[in-house]
Amino acid sequence: MEKDNIDALAKRALAERLELHRLQQLISVPDENLVTQLRRRALEMQLGTSLSSLEKNALDFNHLVGRNVENPVGSVAVPVGVAGPIPLSGSVAQGDVYLPLATTEGALVASTNRGAKAVRESGRIQVIILRDAMSRAPAFRTETAMDAARLEAWVEHNLPTMQKEASKTTRHGKLISAKCYIVGNIAYVRLSFTTGDAMGMNMATIASEKISELIEKETGAELIALSGNLCSDKKPAMINSLLGRGKSVIAEALIREASVRGTLKTTAQRIVRVNSIKNQTGSALAGSNSQNAHFANILAASFIATGQDVAQIVESSQGFTIAEERRGDLYFSVTLPSLEVGAIGGGTGLPAQSELINLTGAGLAPEGSRAKWLAEVIAAGVLCGELSLLSAIAANQLAGSHARLGRAGKAYG
Ligand code: NAP
Repeated sequence: MEKDNIDALAKRALAERLELHRLQQLISVPDENLVTQLRRRALEMQLGTSLSSLEKNALDFNHLVGRNVENPVGSVAVPVGVAGPIPLSGSVAQGDVYLPLATTEGALVASTNRGAKAVRESGRIQVIILRDAMSRAPAFRTETAMDAARLEAWVEHNLPTMQKEASKTTRHGKLISAKCYIVGNIAYVRLSFTTGDAMGMNMATIASEKISELIEKETGAELIALSGNLCSDKKPAMINSLLGRGKSVIAEALIREASVRGTLKTTAQRIVRVNSIKNQTGSALAGSNSQNAHFANILAASFIATGQDVAQIVESSQGFTIAEERRGDLYFSVTLPSLEVGAIGGGTGLPAQSELINLTGAGLAPEGSRAKWLAEVIAAGVLCGELSLLSAIAANQLAGSHARLGRAGKAYG
């Protein structure tokens, strides 16, 4: 549409005080890209600020409204770097893999890449997935604690009935366990599902609603909250570290002494000491239930690149780093008990994100193994990033490398 026409419509929207989600009514054709343009122009006029950069990297909003976003005004471009190749031997992911990182933090990609180099020089990263289940925990109110205990007994004896109910809502989601936790007359039922190639949060929530209706009918309890926070989604929670949520993943590698000295510029002994004093004692003193240096950095960047739900970095980044000196070599592992990722659903279908999932190899893996593949590649990337940062701290290089890689280029503006 002509700029003059868009300007005229934007003025009209402002004059009529139309809400941002009602601007479609000013345009005769059903085109979300035009509405997005109009919404952006109306905001520019109202606020006296330019939003032209949001237009440059245009997505087709006809595919996104009703699925990924409401009231769109454009999109934000985030630089993407790549770490790798990372030699990987996982339960599904195999070979030399690459991890895309969408970030504005200078030094992050370089540092992760340095960790990958040390791994390459030494051998490979082994990755194992111990558990795989997405959880939802509806909360029910009963009259008495006795009734809550009866509800627990019903849940314990009726897994197949609940599984049948869940299967009415999804083809790929399967209820695998239901565990009750009682406080007074309140019963929390933590329902866990395998979810195929999806992260599974919508799938688990929709199935949990159906199961909750059944529990209400069979026990007389009242559903108070479909999510009772024992799930536990997007909040730091020890239950996820203990029972797992999404994929419970461990990545481990033996880094040869020559690489620790040559590439990481330190010694295994120093890395072990930093891990002990910083990640273990420091985290304990801080009251943190995570003992790692920066899992969240690699997760945030890889989640943005591959279209994951970034709010789930909260629980995905809970985890533990172990470092041991073995005759000069370094044994190093990262444990992520609640890594929540999918290769289908949510933001994974957006054009760039989908291509970057393919870049990891996950999109081209056999159906049913794609989310696991992605989880294994991300966990391997977390190991590389963690290894490199602990090495930088051990060698007292942290501030210097950030000054060199985070402040050196020519800034915008
Ligand atoms: P989804 O896109 O809602 O569901 C996945 C869809 O893909 C289902 O329709 C599934 O069909 C289909 N599918 C086709 N092939 C599949 C395969 N091989 N494996 C698995 N599924 C396959 O995605 P989701 O992972 O369940 O939910 C992710 C979304 O939930 C994200 O956008 C996230 O932001 C959002 N979220 C929701 C909540 C909530 O409380 N609802 C909370 C946090 C985040 P079938 O179901 O028939 O198998």
